[in-house]
Amino acid sequence: MTRWPDRDRPAVTADAVIVGSGPGGAAVADVLTQAGWSVVIVEKGRNHLIDLADPTRLLYDFSNDEIKFFDRWFLGPDPMVEPRTFRIGPEDGERLHVGEVNSIPTTVGGGGTHADGKVPRFREEDFELLSRYGPIEGAEVADWPVGYDELEPFYAEAERAIGVAGDATANPFAAWRSGPYPMPPGAPMYGATLSTAAAEEVGLHPYAAPTAANSVPYDGRPACNNCGFCAFAGCPIHAKGDPVALLQRALLSGHAELLPETFVTRVCTENGRATGVEAMDADGTRRTIGARVVVLAAGAIETPRLMLLSGFDHPLIGRHFMVHFQTFGFGTLPHRLHAERGRAVTHVHDDAVLVDDDARRAAAAAGLPWLRGGLVEHGGPAHPIEEAKRYPWGARHPKLMRASPMRDHLWGFTMQGEDLPQRGNCVDLDPDVRDARGFPVARVTYKPHRHELAASDHHGQKLLEVLRVMGANWSGTATSPSLRTDTQWHDDRTSIVPASRHVMGTTRMGDDPATSVVDRYGAMHALPNVVVADSSVFVTSAGYGPTLTLVALAMRAAGALTG
Ligand SMILES: Cc1cc2nc3c(=O)[nH]c(=O)nc-3n(C[C@H](O)[C@H](O)[C@H](O)COP(=O)(O)OP(=O)(O)OC[C@H]3O[C@@H](n4cnc5c(N)ncnc54)[C@H](O)[C@@H]3O)c2cc1C
Ligand code: SF4
Repeated sequence: MTRWPDRDRPAVTADAVIVGSGPGGAAVADVLTQAGWSVVIVEKGRNHLIDLADPTRLLYDFSNDEIKFFDRWFLGPDPMVEPRTFRIGPEDGERLHVGEVNSIPTTVGGGGTHADGKVPRFREEDFELLSRYGPIEGAEVADWPVGYDELEPFYAEAERAIGVAGDATANPFAAWRSGPYPMPPGAPMYGATLSTAAAEEVGLHPYAAPTAANSVPYDGRPACNNCGFCAFAGCPIHAKGDPVALLQRALLSGHAELLPETFVTRVCTENGRATGVEAMDADGTRRTIGARVVVLAAGAIETPRLMLLSGFDHPLIGRHFMVHFQTFGFGTLPHRLHAERGRAVTHVHDDAVLVDDDARRAAAAAGLPWLRGGLVEHGGPAHPIEEAKRYPWGARHPKLMRASPMRDHLWGFTMQGEDLPQRGNCVDLDPDVRDARGFPVARVTYKPHRHELAASDHHGQKLLEVLRVMGANWSGTATSPSLRTDTQWHDDRTSIVPASRHVMGTTRMGDDPATSVVDRYGAMHALPNVVVADSSVFVTSAGYGPTLTLVALAMRAAGALTG
């Protein structure tokens, strides 16, 4: 491989160039380098993860610091520098909001650095919703071209490679698996011991969430110490394996080079094939990176943006954007819950994913043939500075901080509801707004289907029941995006933007080039040496975090490349 050039050497060449160093890009880099391919991983964010001169050493830039991660955009993207725009539909004009929209870190390691890493597998039915349950008017529900049985070995390999702690026998609704998790589950959060007992009492089936955080020393990295800064923050001791383990292995192979602070501006093509990418480094210099294969792993919003910036013209690029429809059930308890200790979420339940008699009745009442919610996460808020922002200033403020009704007494549930694919929900290029480098930003157009609203109504009630059994003084539900009237949405612009970081579906996979952008291995129908290795390829959203599934699919796509 030619190394990244100094200024006098304009080109780099490699077997593959990978755009994005998040879980998807890291998984491809790992598989390709183990097969002896040379790869260049191009990442627009900064590097706080691995010493690139000596990849045996991890960096220790992360800390338990709310302001650094939540307010100063330590892991990016700073929405002033790299904004996105949002609207509910074309009737809103070009946009309603400019700033943060479903942001996932832009840094070496991508969203894996920030996530608290609940990594459940999908279930068998998640890949065949159309055949099992039938169509829903207004949505484009379809079967995946790959099924669970074919993906199972890749799930198992992904769990081994990133290190997942879990109990294979704990979830009665789990899909079959060929072996146990590599590690036992970590310690439960105190609040989760209470919420799981209450959930069981109302007939639910909570279990220890499979989590990509070491419960015991694993793969040369230490066990999690339950510092409580898991979600939205990097792990100070690298107990989270996704994707640092994959990236480190790829770099240690000697076949990979990682270029941080380098933005890929377009995929270069010639005679119906990609020849590499054009990239811009931190000081604005543009260079070309030539490669036999271009892998796009920029995430389900930036991958279609890059395709559109490259002039690709399949009508479905950016279409079918999905983001889990979140339903929150929350309440205050008379006693303290200590959610500042633990991995943000240690327990979950799957009951709301099932299409059971109850769900069918709720669907019928809403005029739908079926409905599905999603994984329900048990957790509480952990961060005192975020809490402080919620109370009024003045004499009451210190009293409220000491009593802590909105943090230490608050417990809640988040349902990551299945979001149906709709053609009108999409990512395209904003016609006017540009990022600091001068490129059109991604615009998200999104409105939930009435399926999501009905599922949220139905399952939200169950969450309140659990809170009542827990002994909550008061409880309530809310959703993201908000379910207010259009007028109120316009008044409160942040709540109209879905908060979920689970983004999917914008370059759907399938066998028919007319109804899908990429094939069953992620290769573009129109440009077979461009391979998508992130959740853009998802056909439906399931009700589970996308990361393990996208890593398994990325490994499978890379395996197809190396044969
Ligand atoms: C707080 C939080 C909690 C989460 N919790 C969970 C969870 O519990 N379970 C779960 O499954 N998922 C979770 N997620 C989502 C998870 O982070 C994503 O699913 C995952 O990171 C997606 O991986 P990816 O590789 O597809 O994309 P990303 O992680 O988004 O990585 C893409 C990378 O590409 C880079 N990039 C983009 N465009 C370009 C370009 N043009 N040139 C160069 N580089 C580019 C970006 O900077 C980024 O680093 C969470 C996310 C957050 C933020
Ligand atoms: S809770 Fe554990 S895995 Fe999460 S950041 Fe802290 S030490 Fe790391």
